[in-house]
Amino acid sequence: MKHLLALLATVAGPAVAAPTIDVVIRGGTIYAGDDAPPITGDVEIAGDRIVYVGPSRRTTASRVIDARGQIVAPGFIDAHPHPDSYIRSPDRTARLNLPWLAQGVSTIVAGVDGGGTPDVADDARRLTAAGIGTNVVPFVGFGAVRARVLGQDARAPTAAELAGEKALVAKGMCEGATGFSTGLFYAPQSFATTDEVAAVAAEAGRRGGMYDTHQRDESNYTIGLLASTREAIEIGRRAGAPVHIAHLKALGVDLHGQAPALIATIEAARARGQDVTADQYPYLASGSAVDAALLPRWASDGGYAKVRARLADQPTLARIRAEMRENLRRRGGAASILLTSAGQPWTGRTLAQVATTWRLDPVDAAIRIIATPDVAGTGPAGVGIASVNMIDRDVDLIMRQPWVMTGSDGSDGHPRQYATFPRKYRTYVRERRVIALRDFIRRSTGLTADKYRIVDRGYLRAGTFADVVVLDPDAYAPHADYLHPTVPSVGVRALLVNGRVALIDGKPTGVAAGRVLLRPTPAGCPSSSKQAGTR
Ligand SMILES: [Zn+2]
Repeated sequence: MKHLLALLATVAGPAVAAPTIDVVIRGGTIYAGDDAPPITGDVEIAGDRIVYVGPSRRTTASRVIDARGQIVAPGFIDAHPHPDSYIRSPDRTARLNLPWLAQGVSTIVAGVDGGGTPDVADDARRLTAAGIGTNVVPFVGFGAVRARVLGQDARAPTAAELAGEKALVAKGMCEGATGFSTGLFYAPQSFATTDEVAAVAAEAGRRGGMYDTHQRDESNYTIGLLASTREAIEIGRRAGAPVHIAHLKALGVDLHGQAPALIATIEAARARGQDVTADQYPYLASGSAVDAALLPRWASDGGYAKVRARLADQPTLARIRAEMRENLRRRGGAASILLTSAGQPWTGRTLAQVATTWRLDPVDAAIRIIATPDVAGTGPAGVGIASVNMIDRDVDLIMRQPWVMTGSDGSDGHPRQYATFPRKYRTYVRERRVIALRDFIRRSTGLTADKYRIVDRGYLRAGTFADVVVLDPDAYAPHADYLHPTVPSVGVRALLVNGRVALIDGKPTGVAAGRVLLRPTPAGCPSSSKQAGTR
């Protein structure tokens, strides 16, 4: 309708009035999302676009947001979230995506770790019809593609199956996916060789898409961190696709201090002219569970009843104990494992503390926790953990790299879902001064938009879409922690998504202004690759 009116106005005659300004964000310290120093002034918005950024000029507007003393920046872009339990919820309020809105995030990437459906157009239509609070940038994922063609099989594809995988990635790209994502750490994707992944990824590369990966090994579980990073770079090179490595880290005690070697590996590829970037979440702990982290894979096979039977069988238990001891060492010992499941006698204490109380070896304390059934008896009662397995030195060095963006990896149960951006600001910018404020903003906005080729977003400039955040520099802070992972962050004074106010004074307005940001149809796609969203 708006387009129609605009068209009629154009047809009606040459008298073009100045655009009516809907919103002025007045007097703030404006960071544009680039490397330039901030300016003090106004951001003017008409419809879904920014029409002016510059010194205050006292324009009248339907709505004025007083931003004096506040930071004004492009709405943040989360390079690697797991938002599905929100954006795909049957509950409209959940679909507003409050965990991200309350951090000032206006755009999230979806379908990472290989999860994205190849049916990009259908999915975009569904999300658009349902209404979502943030913009979404879709990926077609290797996990979804491989499962559809090969199921869970641990084998190479036949020639026909490989062609089937390629066709699904081509379909997703033609329907507007930004690129191809993998999670080679996870089965069944882990069964694929470098050759298979490169061949399939080339379908994205030749259509202008990028290669985004949760790499095969972030520690020393299989091929090792550095070999895994080299594999990601090689896949991108062979596929003709820019590479992006998710949640870059050196994980586990054996890898501590490896960040310089990791960065050198990526810098070498960049020096050869390859486009390789990464994202990172600002936490030393990953989220996991006592059983997933410590039990050997073979011992957790076949369901909870079988696990308990094995733990009750003395010879089997002896084998399990030995392997658990090694897994605990890799994770940095019992003092670095915080037990986070609510409502248990051990909640909020480390495994070391619980073992001392129980007068048990830490491995036996872990076994007692795993063997304690929940009310239904179908699983363990409370095995959630935050596992501190990174060190400041590595995390800080990775964060300082100009090609490292902010990505929450936000999934249910870890505070990073609700608090990544304000934590990075509060801890790494304000308190520890690891990076400058301008760099924090740039690497959470413009840099990410450039890499993901998100057109007309990530910058505050006349003509770009009006995704804008207003932050109170003293109040912007995380409230979620490992024991309370779902407490919304605070300090966002206003967040606009496509020109509409989604959050004001920290409270959601209920407006679902998000769009699915589909790429323009690449050359060579069938004309039926119909698109549902706009970029
Ligand atoms: Zn991941």
